[in-house]
Amino acid sequence: MSLRKFKVNGKDLDALELKVLLITNGINVPSADVYEQLGRTHRLSPDPLECSCLLLPGNIVVHLAAVGPRSPFNLRLGESGQAYLAYHDEFVTEVSFPPATRFYEQQTSNGRPFRGTGVLQGVDVLSFAYLWSCEYAQAGLACQFCHTGGYTEQQVRAGQAEPAFPTPRDVAEVVEHAVNTEKVAKHVQITGGSTMNPQAECDRVIAVLNAIDSVTGCDKIPGEIVIFTTPPSDPVAIDDLFAAGADRVACDIEVWDENLARQICPGKSRLTGRQRHLDTLQHIAEKFGPNKACSSFVVGVEPLESFLAGAEYLAQRGIVPIVSIWMPHGRPVLGKTAAPGLDYYRQVRDRIAELYAQYDIEPPGGAGFNVCLCRDTWNHRAEILGKKAATCDCHLAQ
Ligand code: SF4
Repeated sequence: MSLRKFKVNGKDLDALELKVLLITNGINVPSADVYEQLGRTHRLSPDPLECSCLLLPGNIVVHLAAVGPRSPFNLRLGESGQAYLAYHDEFVTEVSFPPATRFYEQQTSNGRPFRGTGVLQGVDVLSFAYLWSCEYAQAGLACQFCHTGGYTEQQVRAGQAEPAFPTPRDVAEVVEHAVNTEKVAKHVQITGGSTMNPQAECDRVIAVLNAIDSVTGCDKIPGEIVIFTTPPSDPVAIDDLFAAGADRVACDIEVWDENLARQICPGKSRLTGRQRHLDTLQHIAEKFGPNKACSSFVVGVEPLESFLAGAEYLAQRGIVPIVSIWMPHGRPVLGKTAAPGLDYYRQVRDRIAELYAQYDIEPPGGAGFNVCLCRDTWNHRAEILGKKAATCDCHLAQ
């Protein structure tokens, strides 16, 4: 399906451009009516722990960060009862939401609520974003953009204990419910905080994978299990994650420019560093093949050229660069609270589409993620590359 077009403030935007603007600006939901009326039939909630998203026409998934009136985008209810987006008061498009779910009403056999344990993203993803505390954040070295790490840092500073984290069995029961009972997810993403152990989080991840295997069967997950983890001091330790059922492993570099990374990600920069990430990613690519190693970047916090240099470096080696759009609301990075303009992200999307095609890279996921642009770009790569070829005037120089 081709990307739908919209008029925003007099400009023609496609659905991916609108997604970028909605994520970087957040959305204002001026009246609780939207939640009250549509929350009964759709997966839509004001609770940030439920990580709501909206679906633009063409089923482009967009995270609903309700930031209040500082966003020019308003989510409203029309007379027909259909939700729509407006730029200030100007109609942009009708939007929809995933169908209602009972997922967030459940609890595990341990009595642990699903809400706050895992989140449903888009229409086919179950994510566990923070299965254990980040030791870098505990040491006051949280990444500037990271909300969960920032929360841990604050708790430690205030001398407060963090809430208990889920057990591997809790995770496995949540997976079973999402994948088999309600069938609201095909793909599973597992992330914990970074640890300082040289073995990194391998043992903890293996315990989670073993629990999923005993309850559901890792090979019965219809999509993929993607593990996001700290690179261990010996890259070979990662092999055990694949043996335990991981389909892909990501070690997130976040920021390619090492000088900026020192300021933005002080813990990662000091305790693991870019080279250890690259050694592990390269080991995975060599041993398990292309598209098995991934690395997320928080796109928007560094100059375009340095991000693209990192993305190309990885893609050339069969490693997937994941494009996570920086959400500047809430946590400033290097003192900045505004993301770069749309032109920056257009160039990201166009170049990433080229890199994916040139090096045969396929990012994880199916229908797309709340804040990532990579799978959407891959899903629409033919159209993006075709449009770029049609508008390219490089033949004039020949
Ligand atoms: S290392 Fe990971 S969990 Fe810790 S602060 Fe950085 S992004 Fe957040």
